[in-house]
Amino acid sequence: MIHYKNKLEEELVDLHIHIGGAVAPHIMWELAHRQGLKLPAKNYWDFWQLITASPETVHNLEEYLQIMHQWTEKIQSSPEAMEKCVYSIISKEYRSSNVSQIELRFNPMKRNKGGEMDLDHIIQATVHGMDKGILDYGVKVGLIFCLAREFPFELNEIIVRKAIRYHKWGVVGIDMAGLEQHPFETDPNWQNYVKLFAEARERGLGITVHTGETNATGPESVRQVLRDIKPERIGHGIQAVHDVELMRELAEAGTVLEICPSSNLLTRAISSWEELKDILAKFKNNNVRYTINTDGPYLMRTNMKKEIELLLENNVLTKEEIKQAMQVAREASFIK
Ligand SMILES: [Zn+2]
Repeated sequence: MIHYKNKLEEELVDLHIHIGGAVAPHIMWELAHRQGLKLPAKNYWDFWQLITASPETVHNLEEYLQIMHQWTEKIQSSPEAMEKCVYSIISKEYRSSNVSQIELRFNPMKRNKGGEMDLDHIIQATVHGMDKGILDYGVKVGLIFCLAREFPFELNEIIVRKAIRYHKWGVVGIDMAGLEQHPFETDPNWQNYVKLFAEARERGLGITVHTGETNATGPESVRQVLRDIKPERIGHGIQAVHDVELMRELAEAGTVLEICPSSNLLTRAISSWEELKDILAKFKNNNVRYTINTDGPYLMRTNMKKEIELLLENNVLTKEEIKQAMQVAREASFIK
């Protein structure tokens, strides 16, 4: 008998999960202690508060990213930690929600202690953890390497080179993430970025870009990314809702938006479930395709099962519409 675990009663797909926000706090606690890290937490519960987000502790995207930067990325900065973290995410997503296709993203250079650790060891350990998860749970998994808006072009270029090199081991795509206050859209290296993304595509990698998440990157940023970089997918992209012409362009290009409901509420990118309902209805009416994702399940104290329940309880989407989003995710996945 199959236990689907979720209200759709089918296997699910999650295309947008940051490894930095997806590992259970008790595993992070264990890893921090094994590495002898000094923590500003008296006990496990203080630590749990420290590395998960709640409306009391997080008021915007910056504060949310700060949790990852200060703690989870530091704790995950060893080959052993990455292997264990990736395996645990795959295992937990499957057991909690029956997610059987999952794309996990992270920035390898935010796991190498500013260059002290060898990038290849970090990456290979991550691949190893992924392979064990695939073997044990019979699921499909791919890795996405995140570039960072706050990094200079030269560092981001190295990350893309690594993604190309590890493509045959399961790195399926690249992403641009990080602080929206660092607009890479106006970076003097913009044309170099355009070339770099094009090269990644030629070498078989899928492309997604975080943009249009908050109003720091509004419709103009989304448009520029869409026209020049031509990503198959966009992380969030909800700001496109304010621009009918842009929605037409997204629909025409077939670009898929990775929507992360609880994440957007927690970072106040959107103010309510009603607003999300309105945004998704506009995307549907304008033929903009989207998927539903968790972004950082443990950091947000959620999982895919819960996201579906929240969308249904708050009348944001119908069961059929969520099933449709899952189908879009299967089609838009970089895992072949
Ligand atoms: Zn994200």
